[in-house]
Amino acid sequence: MSLPSRIVLTGFSGTGKSTVGPLLAEALGWELLDTDATIEEQHGPIPDIFRKRGEAHFRELEADALREACSRENVVIVGGGGVVISAKNRRLMADGGFVVCLEARAETILHRLEDDETVESFLRPLLEGADPLARIRELKAARQSVYAICDWTVHTDTLTADEVVVQIRRAREEFGEAALTDPNRLEDVASAETDDAALEGTAAIVRTVSGDYPVIVRWGALGDLGRALRDGGIAQRAYVISDEQVWHHLGDEVEASLSAAEVPFESYVVPPGEATKTLETASAIYDWLIEQKTERGHTIVTVGGGMVTDLGGYVAATFARGLPLVHVPTSVLGMVDAAIGGKAAVNHARAKNMIGAFYQPKMVLADPAVLRTLPPREHSGWAEAIKHAMIADEEYLRLFEENADGILKLDPEVTTEAIGRSAAIKAGVVTADEKETTGRRATLNYGHTLAHAIESTTGYERFRHGEADAIGMMCAAEISRGMGLLAEDVIARQRGVLERFKLPISADGLDREKIMAAIALDKKVQANEVRWVLLEGIGSAVVRNDVPPEVVEAALDSVLR
Ligand code: NAD
Repeated sequence: MSLPSRIVLTGFSGTGKSTVGPLLAEALGWELLDTDATIEEQHGPIPDIFRKRGEAHFRELEADALREACSRENVVIVGGGGVVISAKNRRLMADGGFVVCLEARAETILHRLEDDETVESFLRPLLEGADPLARIRELKAARQSVYAICDWTVHTDTLTADEVVVQIRRAREEFGEAALTDPNRLEDVASAETDDAALEGTAAIVRTVSGDYPVIVRWGALGDLGRALRDGGIAQRAYVISDEQVWHHLGDEVEASLSAAEVPFESYVVPPGEATKTLETASAIYDWLIEQKTERGHTIVTVGGGMVTDLGGYVAATFARGLPLVHVPTSVLGMVDAAIGGKAAVNHARAKNMIGAFYQPKMVLADPAVLRTLPPREHSGWAEAIKHAMIADEEYLRLFEENADGILKLDPEVTTEAIGRSAAIKAGVVTADEKETTGRRATLNYGHTLAHAIESTTGYERFRHGEADAIGMMCAAEISRGMGLLAEDVIARQRGVLERFKLPISADGLDREKIMAAIALDKKVQANEVRWVLLEGIGSAVVRNDVPPEVVEAALDSVLR
């Protein structure tokens, strides 16, 4: 009788894998390999990988570690809780291995995780949210279909680790031989999340209370839009919303992709520009959706820059109390910022983005190749991406420093990487603080205090958002220096990158009094304090409400001429 020479332990965080793994290996006289430990040895702390490169990148490293582990004999492999999501991973685990799922009730898991430093990184912020128990139940339920097909399951709630080891050994002896006869036994799971094809090119996974969704960033991805809707189970009927300029360039490709995948669709094209982002336009789109007899399962697909994603997102959030939504951002700002995180809004005549909702899409599909037709000035959206580097990741800043020309010329590889990394940072922040309640999402406002003041005092006409942002970032960096937080060389690096991307680092002709008044207005809105997002170094943002006026004045002197 031959028995599997590998045992793979999987299951949700807190079910006991890392306690049981070493005991089981010792009892069998086998080697122990923990995929998380391997990743940390080779790539540093997992929370840092999540923060800088996102969950999708972590999953790639996890797949590599698993492949290596599965090439060995006489080994107990402890896989992370998400390792079974991928069909490829399950194939590896099943071929010659005995796959054991450790289970526990959500209450047990919460209790065990509360004191556990090594909790799966994406779980940590969710556990700090309002209802961690509900979130654990939700996440477990999402993975249940794959946990259920493992070779054996042990409920660990009331067992000691030694008792779990005994059960696993017994199960291997009794059922291990049968498992060896069918290496494809873990493949048959009917769930979109388990389909590797749907995750191809996934740069980030956003996890929110209303569900998780992938941000796909792939050169040429637009051609796969129809297939992605099919794979995501949202292809019943699509209502595409775009603007005239974007549609002129991309309409044919969008239509061809939807037709090829046999997705029925209609399109509604609005004039380009911020003036379109109003309740009146939203209302005209409602009229059209009613004429089209839109039903609740039909999907809104936005194809455009931030204006279109905001407008279409607002329509999707409100029509029939919510339609499934897919964003296909086509500007740099749309790809790295507006399409990710679920903020949807239209403008009020007296206040920008005043009428809106948090409404998460089912998927974001970004194809950097479409940036080839983006007007030159719209490349100012790179300021948002550079901001992500400044607040989250020095290595990402180096990507900009070393590849500015390639990115500006839209070299496919480096541009895709730059967009993908930015999307991962934004996705991580949104996952940690979906509705800006813990302060983490507020760090994305680095540079925004002055940027908003500049935009509002110039009627949103003179500067593109990215341009105002760049000036705002220089001001925030100067304030950081004035507060004794930031060294001059970091400011010089920020300035250097912004300049290489042809972004302004100062402005002339602005009305200083009006700027100060706009900043003061911000203060009224925010509980009577100006909250400046400052840097203590690259990758380390802090929110401060104690900046003395003279420090602000000195920083303004340096950017307003
Ligand atoms: P935009 O959508 O107005 O696009 C800028 C111009 O570029 C438009 O004329 C558009 O037609 C054109 N364009 C876009 N993609 C193109 C392409 N591939 N080829 C040719 N032309 C193309 O502006 P934007 O800068 O993308 O977004 C700004 C908007 O985003 C604002 O309304 C802002 O409030 C919003 N925003 C929202 C969020 C959020 O979290 N929801 C974040 C940031 C900005």
